[in-house]
Amino acid sequence: MEENKHHNEAEGCSCEHPENDAQYSGLQVNAGIEQPPMVNPYLKRRRRPQLTVNDYVEGIRKGNTAVLGQAVTLVESLMPEHQVVAQEVIEKCLPFTGGSKRIGITGVPGAGKSTSIDVFGIHVLNRGGKLAVLAIDPSSERSKGSILGDKTRMEKLAVHPKAFIRPSPSAGSLGGVARKTRETIVLCEAAGYDNIFVETVGVGQSEIAVHSMVDFFLLIQLAGTGDELQGIKRGIMEMADGIVINKADGDNIERANLAATQFRNALHLFPLPPSGWTPEVTTYSGYYELNIDGVWDMIDRYFDHVHANGYFEERRRQQEKYWMYETINEQLKARFYSDPEVQRLLNIKQDMVLNNQQSSFVAAADVLRHYYENLNKNND
Ligand code: GDP
Repeated sequence: MEENKHHNEAEGCSCEHPENDAQYSGLQVNAGIEQPPMVNPYLKRRRRPQLTVNDYVEGIRKGNTAVLGQAVTLVESLMPEHQVVAQEVIEKCLPFTGGSKRIGITGVPGAGKSTSIDVFGIHVLNRGGKLAVLAIDPSSERSKGSILGDKTRMEKLAVHPKAFIRPSPSAGSLGGVARKTRETIVLCEAAGYDNIFVETVGVGQSEIAVHSMVDFFLLIQLAGTGDELQGIKRGIMEMADGIVINKADGDNIERANLAATQFRNALHLFPLPPSGWTPEVTTYSGYYELNIDGVWDMIDRYFDHVHANGYFEERRRQQEKYWMYETINEQLKARFYSDPEVQRLLNIKQDMVLNNQQSSFVAAADVLRHYYENLNKNND
């Protein structure tokens, strides 16, 4: 030890790095070099200029996709100050909306939604106009990264200058995610997108949300083992305006035709929907681009039908009503659950209910009464 110390002093070795001692058999450590204060001192960091409400509206109206994208980000933001601006932008965009065909597309994972949307989208764009593809995927927050709306899944549309693809908003409840998508439709329409696709994964509640914001609801199905009908919920079939059996190619064609017949038979058992339109069923292949015309002829016929009988307008009016109530419900809930006193009381009541000390109804009534009393006190 003593010898070592001498050695260090003799060599001028700093005690900070004893491993540099000749007797040390490990790796050598070199003295570090001073880091420059920044990589490029001449680089001027420019902050993105803050847009005013009018800047947003003007940019959107001019079809500037960068501004549109920023406005959508604002709509999706959870920050209250962003929400204030977003709502003003939406309000100012409203007079320029309503002129698009809104089409909802659903199907279980693997049904071929992305492949089909890519092909359907190009088909629509070849007829002129612009297309926005939005998505509702409430699971995306859990899976950390949206499974829907990912640009790489729609290769042709992703590079098309007239297509705007936006993944699902990821934060919040289904109601919240759906409302943001509904508001994004407003912005896209004001930006001149006259075709809107709203995609959702066909596994549950999100179809109802999509159905409440589109004019036509397309259900993509697969021919499978002969029991196709058992796999999907009756409710989803009832909402569909058209059912299309994908992957009708190669030796799958016959099975696809059989599935189509089964769906047609099943649909006949349903009462005629308020649109007066009996949902149609057809087969196609997204991958091999077979019968894409057929699918789109069906959708065109539907639009002709509902424009002629007035149902188009009626459905949109009903949807406006639905969104009014949805927005109220959501905001009431958000306000209630974010109240610190409610949160404190809920923690206590929850344990009481779990321990059978109080019934759920009494506990709920107590929390609500407490909340209303506090509200009244604050208003006095
Ligand atoms: P999504 O999960 O519903 O978006 O489905 P995808 O579009 O990702 O398709 C799932 C798989 O089915 C992929 O491997 C596609 O290549 C394949 N696929 C999609 N459409 C067709 C089709 O028309 N025919 C065949 N044979 N395969 C298809």
